[in-house]
Amino acid sequence: MGKTLAQTLSKSSVQLTHPDRVYWPGKGVTKQHLADYYAQVWPLMAPFVVHRPLALMRCPDGIDGPKFFQKHAWKGINPHIEQIADPEDKNGEKLLRIKDFDGLIALVQSAALEIHPWGTTTDHWARPDMITMDLDPAEDVGWPEVIAAAQQLRKHFAASGLASFVKTSGGKGLHVVAPLTPAASWPDVKEFAAAMAESMSADHPEKFLATAAKDKRVGKIFIDYLRNGRGNTAVAAYSPRARPGAPVSMPLSWDQLEEVGGPADFNVNNVPAHLAAQSVDPWERFFKAAKPLPKAKAH
Ligand code: ATP
Ligand code: MN
Ligand code: MN
Repeated sequence: MGKTLAQTLSKSSVQLTHPDRVYWPGKGVTKQHLADYYAQVWPLMAPFVVHRPLALMRCPDGIDGPKFFQKHAWKGINPHIEQIADPEDKNGEKLLRIKDFDGLIALVQSAALEIHPWGTTTDHWARPDMITMDLDPAEDVGWPEVIAAAQQLRKHFAASGLASFVKTSGGKGLHVVAPLTPAASWPDVKEFAAAMAESMSADHPEKFLATAAKDKRVGKIFIDYLRNGRGNTAVAAYSPRARPGAPVSMPLSWDQLEEVGGPADFNVNNVPAHLAAQSVDPWERFFKAAKPLPKAKAH
């Protein structure tokens, strides 16, 4: 038998209290189930959450209870969740970071059901290491159109000399993510992302929108480039979503994308088997494929 993904289970010293607490009632997914899921995906997920400032969607009573989108610590926070000062806001409230699997399980224990990192690490706060293009389709847009839009983004990135990778959002759309050598500034990266969104909407105004105006969105896909400013976040690869069905933001190969039936196909229950059935991590080359942001855009 060849080696498949997700064979070694990560282990944590963090104690789960009330492991049977239900986080996703519809699917009966408990705190323990979430920890077991993470034990399988951790080696693949780690580079996308470790040493990055994190925003968290906390749902202490599960997804049907109150939801708190938090960037800062709370009373009694687990010590495996680090509190770090933003170097550009030294006197401000500390931000949150994890460094290892214990940190992730501490997030599970804290009912952080979604993990939203910055697009860079705290080794180089001022230099993003990825561009995230978030495809937000209006409700009447078909899934094949969303896939086609992602493929088009891939072409635009390639024309600029950048590799790009695709994942489901676990919500309604797809995220196309390009790794960067951390060198360009946040404003330059955001400007590049905005130019790409604007050029796509200029070429196909009937399909794409580069502004967030909800009322103009009917029948179109908003190419949300706004994930790319300093302090902005996007949901992490392999993070679940606090939505019915425990969907997951799932990294895919471009070939696999064509087989996917919808943005919430992958969930906490079915991802481990999906990984066990494949031998190659489709995002394995993500950081190896990083290139500097091109100087001027030429779409
Ligand atoms: P979908 O496919 O449903 O669009 P998504 O994760 O792309 O899923 P968006 O609404 O497009 O969701 O993007 C919102 C992003 O903005 C989140 O990924 C998150 O990182 C960030 N964000 C900032 N503030 C909030 C907030 N209060 N609640 C939720 N997300 C927030
Ligand atoms: Mn989105
Ligand atoms: Mn969006």
